[in-house]
Amino acid sequence: MLLTISTDHRPAADLGYLLHKHPDKFQSFDLSFGTAHVFYPEVGDHRCAACLLLDVDAVGLVRGRNPDQDFLLAQYVNDRPYVASSFLSVAIAQVFGSALQGRCTTRPELVGTPIPLVARLDVLPVRGGEAFLRAVFEPLGYEVEAVRHPLDERFPEWGEGPYFSVTVRHTVPLSTLLSHLYVLVPVFDARKHYFVGEDEVGKLLAKGEGWLASHPAKDEIVRRYLGNRPSLYRMALGRLVDEGDPLGDESPVQERAEESLEKPISLNDQRLGSVLAAVRASGARRVLDLGCGEGKLVREFLKDRQFDEIVGLDVSVRSLEAAARRLKLERLPDAQANRVKLIHGSLMYRDKRLEGFDAAAVVEVVEHLDPPRLAAFERVLFECARPRTIVLTTPNREYNVTWETLPAGKFRHPDHRFEWSRPEFQTWATGLAARFGYAVRFLPVGPEHPEYGPPTQMAIFDRNA
Ligand code: SAH
Repeated sequence: MLLTISTDHRPAADLGYLLHKHPDKFQSFDLSFGTAHVFYPEVGDHRCAACLLLDVDAVGLVRGRNPDQDFLLAQYVNDRPYVASSFLSVAIAQVFGSALQGRCTTRPELVGTPIPLVARLDVLPVRGGEAFLRAVFEPLGYEVEAVRHPLDERFPEWGEGPYFSVTVRHTVPLSTLLSHLYVLVPVFDARKHYFVGEDEVGKLLAKGEGWLASHPAKDEIVRRYLGNRPSLYRMALGRLVDEGDPLGDESPVQERAEESLEKPISLNDQRLGSVLAAVRASGARRVLDLGCGEGKLVREFLKDRQFDEIVGLDVSVRSLEAAARRLKLERLPDAQANRVKLIHGSLMYRDKRLEGFDAAAVVEVVEHLDPPRLAAFERVLFECARPRTIVLTTPNREYNVTWETLPAGKFRHPDHRFEWSRPEFQTWATGLAARFGYAVRFLPVGPEHPEYGPPTQMAIFDRNA
């Protein structure tokens, strides 16, 4: 495993000061998983290159493990010695620790100075391919060069493997480059060689300071870095948002407009109450909130002991972050936090994570879906997820005329693709129920107008036995 860092900053030998490793020496360091060597293949006035070569001891890593375990060839024969992985992050922290933290006593002025740097990773396993590689490095300002390798050069028909040679270039302080590599290399590889515990959240936030909170792929980076452990992921996202990220203030202006329109009658609360009552009455213990937004209903579910598994799903990462904050997930005791999961996903696609639930709430979501894609949503929910009970609400368009502040013919929310009258909604829901084997009934939500009906309409679907 080889990482090469080079620069044409002058004097190029400054790289040696920054790395705290003398360019004339070949140095080796014992690490828990093998040996790291540092050497400079090139030291000139115009260019300087430093290499970090990891010699991962695959056999040593297995030694001392539980002898009762079955012999697994993969423990001995695997890609770990050859690819950039979490071993590299550990080596960066241990061998280039001062540089990573931005310390340099001999040349302190260098530390914060952006210099033109090139980092080359000879073999990086990239789950997600080149598109993901670019989506991660380019927003940070890097120029990315990636060459994908065939699985086996002798058998081109086998196609390409997951391995890339990657070169990234940017003018940044060396400590910034090292922090990026420290966090991101394991993100591509997604196989950590050690148990990922809570202290990883701290490391991630420390090394991600100043760049991770605003990274557009933050969500995926955090998820992968934390080895897909949802409780840690929530904790990290919650703290990233808390740490002065502007996201907090960006709750969509549109949503506020909708809220203020509906505030005088507190329709929002009435809707929550009605949905909660309907879900509760179904006897459900395992519940979904689909299109959970900022988690108001999830919070109500959480307060009610009847529900022991609560999953909120939304397509908007921002909303999920706001939900995690609202629920204070990272501060809840484990027993509470374990009851709830917030997941990122779209109701347009079949999702195994949604199967096997007792009830699903879909509150003020359908009107956000494009009509031609409504059919996909119908199948995802009624055919694939197929909970016993579905409680679904949507605005009643007829009622809009009673709102003086809403111009005629306008929707309540700029993101609404449509708003249905009562007959339109009932025709849709009745057809749906018949097609997928559910019974459906309708209930009004909010104060009913004698002519225009209630502001919100609700359908409760029960799966036929
Ligand atoms: N149920 C919440 C939020 C309603 S706003 C409440 O009553 O407060 C509509 C929500 O649907 C938004 O959070 C939006 O991000 C989400 N949404 C829109 N399209 C979606 C899709 N295809 N899959 C999942 N969620 C979606």
